[in-house]
Amino acid sequence: MSRIRKGYEARFYSLLKGAGARRIEEGVRWLLAKAERLSQEGGISQTDALAATYEKLAAQPYFRRIRALSAPERFVCDAGLGGLARWLRAAGYEALWQADIADDELLRKARELTATVLTTDSLLMERRLVRDRIIPAFWLPPTLSIADQLTLVVREFGLSARPPRCMACGGELVRGDKEALRERIPPRTYRWLDEYFLCSECDRLFWHGTHWQRIRDRLTGVLPSPRSKLLPAPPPGS
Ligand SMILES: [Zn+2]
Repeated sequence: MSRIRKGYEARFYSLLKGAGARRIEEGVRWLLAKAERLSQEGGISQTDALAATYEKLAAQPYFRRIRALSAPERFVCDAGLGGLARWLRAAGYEALWQADIADDELLRKARELTATVLTTDSLLMERRLVRDRIIPAFWLPPTLSIADQLTLVVREFGLSARPPRCMACGGELVRGDKEALRERIPPRTYRWLDEYFLCSECDRLFWHGTHWQRIRDRLTGVLPSPRSKLLPAPPPGS
C-alpha cells in the first residue's frame, strides 16, 4: 500500500507543480486526506480512492491543458521496458532504452537528456534524485502487457500522437526515393507500394506494411488526440 500511496503522492505533486500551484506540499496533503475520507465514507479500497481522486482532478479542463502543455518530450526506459520504448517511438516520442543499463547510468542519462524515467522497479523510485523529484519518474506495475503499459503512460502524461520515429533507434524518419532504394526493397513490396521512409540515424528502411498497420490500429485506440486517426503515416516495414 505505501508504495502505491507514494506513487500517487508523486503524481499529485507533479500535477500541482505543473499547474504552478504555490503551496504544493500542503495541496498534496489535502488530496491524500481527501482520498482517505473517500475510502472510509465510500467503503472503497484506498488504492481505488487515490485513483478516483487523481482522475477527477486530472480530468478537469484546466489540468488537462496544463498536462498537455507540460507532457515530457522524451523518456528513459529501464531495462525491462524495451517493448514500451519501441511503442513510444512509434507514437512519436524519444525513448531511450539500453539492455542491462545500470541504475546510476539510467539516472545520469535521464538528467542529461531532461527525460522522464519509466520504470517497473520500485527501488529505483526510492533513489534520492527521484525521491527529491530532481529527476521525474513514473512507476509502472511490472505485470502489465506492453499495450497496457502504453495506455497507462499515454493517460498519465496526456500524450498525443506525433509523427512516428524509428522504432529501432528513435531517429527521425525522412521520405526516401523509391528508385534509389530499389535494391533494398523486396520485389513484391516494390510492385505495390510507392512510399518509403529512412531513419535519419540508423538508415533503417520503413514502409506501411501490415506490421505498421497493426501498430497504428493499437495507437489509434490508445492516443486521445482527435488527430490520432491522421497519424502521419510512416513506420515499420516488415
Ligand atoms: Zn533508426
